[in-house]
Amino acid sequence: MPIWASASQEVKLNATIVNAPVLVLNQNYEPLNICRVRRAVVLLYWGKAELLENGRGKLCSTGSSVEIPSVIRLVYMIRRPRHTRRLTKFEILERDRYTCQYCGKQTAQLTLDHVIPRQHSGPHTWENVVAACLGCNCKKAGRTPAEAKMKLLTRPAPPRDNGALPIPYHVLRQHREWQKYLPEKLRYMMPGSEFTAS
Ligand SMILES: [Zn+2]
Repeated sequence: MPIWASASQEVKLNATIVNAPVLVLNQNYEPLNICRVRRAVVLLYWGKAELLENGRGKLCSTGSSVEIPSVIRLVYMIRRPRHTRRLTKFEILERDRYTCQYCGKQTAQLTLDHVIPRQHSGPHTWENVVAACLGCNCKKAGRTPAEAKMKLLTRPAPPRDNGALPIPYHVLRQHREWQKYLPEKLRYMMPGSEFTAS
């Protein structure tokens, strides 16, 4: 049994730590999924994975300790499920990095805006839906950007990492040690990285 799950349960672990996300790589180093620390520790304990990045210190129990994983790699190959992106509010906000596409404000309080309004037959597609703050959405109202004299920061498009493991933007921001294990199309999202989009 892993020490943190021992029968005595003497160690009261911080729930934040055991529930923290861990990047799981396939045997060939391809990002596979994200699990929690508690799951990763079990995989490490049973020899099903190896630790690649710690970054969080150690879990201590009486007389022993175990490293807190941040990135692990499976020692065997498993078939990778294909992730497909559906056009949802969450996915649009992720694609636009929680940034209003008109004024550039980064906030969690965002709405979806149809660039060409629905009443003007604007389609509900990746190319016509963007994140917009409440202020900009109200200002633009039912008009096109040209009519409202508002300019888009970027041309909306399907996510560049379509088909790759979806990793929420806020998780990427908090785990810089994941960067070198991610494909370029995901690394571009890391703040401060050489791939950060302008
Ligand atoms: Zn705005």
